[in-house]
Amino acid sequence: MKIRLAGIVTDSFVDGPGVRATVFAQGCPHQCSGCHNPHTHDPLGGVEMEVEEVLAEIDRARHIQGVTFSGGEPFEQATAFAELARRIKATGRHLVLYSGYTFETLLERSRNDGDVFELLSLADWLVDGPYVESLRELSLPFRGSRNQRILLSKESMAAGRALQAMA
Ligand code: SF4
Repeated sequence: MKIRLAGIVTDSFVDGPGVRATVFAQGCPHQCSGCHNPHTHDPLGGVEMEVEEVLAEIDRARHIQGVTFSGGEPFEQATAFAELARRIKATGRHLVLYSGYTFETLLERSRNDGDVFELLSLADWLVDGPYVESLRELSLPFRGSRNQRILLSKESMAAGRALQAMA
């Protein structure tokens, strides 16, 4: 299965707890003012890879404590990211998702989209919502603006409502 990415790093300290591999989705519809990753917006930009290649790169990073899907917008390629998530969770790694959509929007979408449902149900954390420049806050861990929440993803899916992992 193919996936379109802006890139992969294996030494991130800012996308969740510990040292992480971060997989950056290519393509984002949110157009947040002040976005730090404008090169990820074009859905035809970046590079197309096989999911197997991405997994091999993550496997080689023996020093990481977890994996993060960021963007861009991972939920625009929910089928490929759900496949990646299945394979990563099978190895027991902690998984963080970033999305410019709120949990409530994704929950609604998950009712008609099994890949969105699976992705949210597999992940440990979901950092949700767009970056809002007027709510920018540099001191927040793992987020850029105060509207964004760190949620317990699979527990929130089971409960049908947003459950915070940390303030
Ligand atoms: S969701 Fe993220 S990548 Fe997309 S425009 Fe907003 S800040 Fe940029």
